[in-house]
Amino acid sequence: MNPLRPVILAAAGSPRIKRAVTRVPLTAGVVRRFVAGETRAELAPVARELLASGRMISVDFLGEYTTDPAMANTAVAEYISLIDDLAGLESPSSAVPAVEVSVKLSALGQALGSDGPAIAAENLHKLCVKAVESRVWVTVDAEDHTTTEETLETVRQLRTEFPWLAVAMQTYLRAAEGRCRELAADGTRIRLCKGAYQEPETVAYQRRGEVDASYLRCLEALMTGPGYPMVASHDPAMIAAALTLSAENHRNPGDFEFQMLYGIRDAEQRRLVDDGHALRVYVPYGGEWYGYLMRRLAERPANLGFFLRALADRG
Ligand SMILES: Cc1cc2nc3c(=O)[nH]c(=O)nc-3n(C[C@H](O)[C@H](O)[C@H](O)COP(=O)(O)OP(=O)(O)OC[C@H]3O[C@@H](n4cnc5c(N)ncnc54)[C@H](O)[C@@H]3O)c2cc1C
Repeated sequence: MNPLRPVILAAAGSPRIKRAVTRVPLTAGVVRRFVAGETRAELAPVARELLASGRMISVDFLGEYTTDPAMANTAVAEYISLIDDLAGLESPSSAVPAVEVSVKLSALGQALGSDGPAIAAENLHKLCVKAVESRVWVTVDAEDHTTTEETLETVRQLRTEFPWLAVAMQTYLRAAEGRCRELAADGTRIRLCKGAYQEPETVAYQRRGEVDASYLRCLEALMTGPGYPMVASHDPAMIAAALTLSAENHRNPGDFEFQMLYGIRDAEQRRLVDDGHALRVYVPYGGEWYGYLMRRLAERPANLGFFLRALADRG
């Protein structure tokens, strides 16, 4: 882990820093590099261009930790309109649905008190019903560790009706390997990522080597199991391991996919597609880009440099 990561993630929680950062217009280069736009109209050309290049997409309407039921309803309505907009978009070569939406249960109401998990599950159900009509897939993002068990339980329950419903798994969590083995046995579609939140040592590995070793153990469990692994990483070592394991396990496009974030390693995304692999780009849009942006800055100090320059130019 880079040494600035905990500092940036902790500072991200400060309302003063949030105010300073969000005054930067979205068009400031570094925000626009990671976020497709604030509206569905701004998202549309980005989505079309990615699909035309042979990549698949997973679109995230930015928002998290909803504390008001009206906000959760707004998020559901936006996702329904989004799925409508995306329905019918196809990638020239994809063996599986080229369009997916990614959703955080905290945006659907998971944190709304004791009824929160049930509200979020009901809202996710509405999105899944809409997604089936539109041949769009849904993946549930992984958030901080206090939500993990609740999130997995919701996905387990909804998978009885929507077996294609996927969930993200963070390999920095000490429990990740066991959870991967259990879910893989069930045939679940799993997005494997290292994890982007600040977590305590009691539940999460802190050293990069440990997180990477956990990633490789989870990857092997997924690649040798009956599920559909989604290898979400920009790390050349994880990508190389996935290429080896997929060949050993005779997996092709349609059996697994790579995933990367919009704006990161674009050339590598194209190279994997050119080599015949399935690759999906996670594309966020919306006005609530602050938390997402801070996690991207924390991952790479060089991005923080770009951003501070944009902030200074504006001042
Ligand atoms: C499709 C997708 C979905 C994700 N969903 C979730 C989720 O639901 N929950 C969650 O907690 N996390 C999620 N993440 C984030 C993930 O957990 C990591 O924080 C992030 O991907 C960085 O880890 P890495 O595997 O790319 O490897 P790292 O070891 O962090 O990076 C490897 C290399 O990738 C490049 N790189 C990585 N990050 C950046 C960046 N921000 N800017 C520029 N270059 C970079 C650099 O070259 C770096 O050396 C997701 C990631 C992806 C790709």
